[in-house]
Amino acid sequence: MRLILVGPPGAGKGSQAKLISEKYHIPNVSTGAMFRKAMGEQTPMGQKAKLYVDRGDLVPDDVTVGLVAERLQEEDCKNGYILDGFPRNTFQADSLTELLKSWNQGLDHVLNISSSDEMVISRLTGRRSCPRCGAIYHLANKPPQRDMLCDNCSNDLVQRNDDREETVVNRLQVYKKQTEPLLKYYREQGLLRNINGEQSIAEVFVDICQVLEGKR
Ligand code: AMP
Repeated sequence: MRLILVGPPGAGKGSQAKLISEKYHIPNVSTGAMFRKAMGEQTPMGQKAKLYVDRGDLVPDDVTVGLVAERLQEEDCKNGYILDGFPRNTFQADSLTELLKSWNQGLDHVLNISSSDEMVISRLTGRRSCPRCGAIYHLANKPPQRDMLCDNCSNDLVQRNDDREETVVNRLQVYKKQTEPLLKYYREQGLLRNINGEQSIAEVFVDICQVLEGKR
């Protein structure tokens, strides 16, 4: 099963990708997570990506497409994958179409997880995450049991640099301008399915499973 998750930042793509990955045993290929890892390790690519990620802008296409092309050829992607955060503009979508064609592969679904601007801003600015195990919390909706410590591994929780309000506003604008046109692109290919991302994580996941299992 090959899936793409689209939707504004903060719509819950990361949380859903994790659940889908666990239930259907396919890897979650998150370009944002790959950039954050490279930034943490201060690799040359990470240092370059940081200039864009911290402002909420898109990392240049040549870097991003190259990264994804390599990742999708790894052994664990043989039976499918979830693309979370890629493609994010029409150039990336065209590049992906070409890559898939050259590998004789097709996409099964593109899930559009939608959410209002207000909800996105509140979710992102309240989001805290564990840099060690990747667990995600929210100050109001899903606080950790102990103040700012991860429930799983007790590491200090952090706020992503790009979850600060000024950057969030830019990320939303970038989404509307560059990524939203992809909805039409995939709708015209008959692949797009809309999911209401304003529900709880569990409710959104039920809707997604219904689509993936052909029940909706
Ligand atoms: P995300 O975790 O998906 O919200 O991504 C965080 C940041 O990583 C984005 O704001 C971009 O700066 C960068 N990024 C992630 N995916 C892409 C992509 N497909 N193209 C360009 N930049 C990306």
